[in-house]
Amino acid sequence: MNLIRTFVFNPIQTNTYVIQHAETQGRGVIVDPACACTAEFEQLTAYIAEKGITVERVVLTHPHFDHLMGAAAVCRHYGLPLYLHEKAVPLLAACTNPAATYGMPVPALPESLEILKAGDRVPFGDTALEVRYTPGHCEGSVVYVWADQQTVFTGDVLFRDSIGRTDLPTGDWDVLRKSILEQVFTLDDAYTVRPGHGGRTSVGYERSHNPFLG
Ligand SMILES: [Zn+2]
Repeated sequence: MNLIRTFVFNPIQTNTYVIQHAETQGRGVIVDPACACTAEFEQLTAYIAEKGITVERVVLTHPHFDHLMGAAAVCRHYGLPLYLHEKAVPLLAACTNPAATYGMPVPALPESLEILKAGDRVPFGDTALEVRYTPGHCEGSVVYVWADQQTVFTGDVLFRDSIGRTDLPTGDWDVLRKSILEQVFTLDDAYTVRPGHGGRTSVGYERSHNPFLG
């Protein structure tokens, strides 16, 4: 049973995840709507339609432009707000600037936002994601823990053999390290890590191999 589908979108190669609570009549969540053009938007929405998934939430890991390039279009399409951490909101306006630097279109922002805080649950079907606050790559950055599937969506906090960059505004290495140790590495080794870029890994592998956290 495959309840998680990964799409790699936009020139920055950002992962968008579509997750569903059950194989049939799934109720789902989109993590980081990163689609940046009509073709990518149609790829995402066609998959969801084909699988018959009812999208109940659209959530953001952190307010960087490459993770939210499709947020306005996706939220409008499903008639949903964008859920994000309260400290991500002030960074939204500034996060559209790098899009111009990369020669990419400035992403539109969703019309409606909903605030998440640490400890909140994002329910869908008979399951839910847990919100953990993980600043350090930037303020307003969260990871989403799906305990039922032993999976954590880490955005740009933790990657396979790497960690998020800390040289962007509000980035801080000490804060990031603390976030990973206290919010991600407190999960069991068996947890699958699904990051914002690149392939999946596990908490156990990163605990013993990640060169930045030894
Ligand atoms: Zn980022």
